[in-house]
Amino acid sequence: MNPHVAFIGLGTMGRPMASRLLAAGWQLAVHDKDPEAVKPLLDDGAHPAGSPADAAEGASFIITMLPNGQHVLDAVTGEHGALAGASPGTVLIDMSTINPLTSRNVATAARARGVEVLDAPVSGSSAGAADGTLTIMAGGDAGVLDRSRDLLSVLGTKIVHCGGPGMGSAVKLANQVMAAASMVAVAESFRLAQSLGVDPRLLHEVSTAGSGDSWSLRTRPPVPGVVATSPADHGFRPGFKGDLMRKDLDLALSAAASAGLDLPLTSAVHDLYADLAAAGLGDRDFSAVIDVLPRRADGS
Ligand code: NAD
Repeated sequence: MNPHVAFIGLGTMGRPMASRLLAAGWQLAVHDKDPEAVKPLLDDGAHPAGSPADAAEGASFIITMLPNGQHVLDAVTGEHGALAGASPGTVLIDMSTINPLTSRNVATAARARGVEVLDAPVSGSSAGAADGTLTIMAGGDAGVLDRSRDLLSVLGTKIVHCGGPGMGSAVKLANQVMAAASMVAVAESFRLAQSLGVDPRLLHEVSTAGSGDSWSLRTRPPVPGVVATSPADHGFRPGFKGDLMRKDLDLALSAAASAGLDLPLTSAVHDLYADLAAAGLGDRDFSAVIDVLPRRADGS
């Protein structure tokens, strides 16, 4: 029988990932601060845990999939955090997208307790989580990653060692800069095409086979009737929430500022995601950014 895994954070991503591990025969103790998030997994055989510390007791691996760095610190290093229940030799795999510095701080705190750590954020959205095709970028010790491959290969098809602690998080932030800008470019393109009388399905057909192709275009054209699985066809249900993209761009911009870099395009894209939140749409998929693209001030 496969070893016991503690899984903490069962939202858009964590829930399908935990389901895959259960289906693959791993024993899971699950915890989420929202009890409703845990329920669907109990029917599949997961054990409920009252806290991250309870979930971590007896676990060989601990996975965290939480919104941001403060959530990870609370769930790992807090009074009832996972480190309070973990035994030396356990591997903690944080798959959330967080600041690389926070990843390093988590690694330092865990190592002081004899717990090994990987920062292993993912790319591939909820669809990739459900079908086990995530791309996983891991920072930490290469030997620890090798020991974790049986587990991670249930979740992802491409698993890349990116370097020491924090380097998985660094690669993820660099990826998000591209993903966010390409989504806004796709939204602007569809807006322009619509105003020129172009059928959006035709634009999609041409550009997915042309130089405008991107993951954003293929998976989430931001108008309905083009790709049946696109969030635009489902009221912009996430997917990947606009607020999470704004958080990722905040992290990228702050990492850039620390390195003395300006990222002008990323700053402009970030501001559009701030507008999305201000419009009350931050919990919608990030492709909903099309709804806050500005019009010309004179209305022309
Ligand atoms: P989500 O908001 O849907 O889910 C987060 C879950 O964590 C929620 O169920 C929440 O109740 C729980 N939670 C929050 N604080 C907690 C705590 N202290 N203890 C226990 N549970 C807690 O978020 P998501 O979309 O699943 O994203 C999770 C992470 O993965 C984020 O860092 C995100 O940036 C990243 N990510 C998301 C996607 C995506 O497509 N959704 C893709 C790649 C990476």
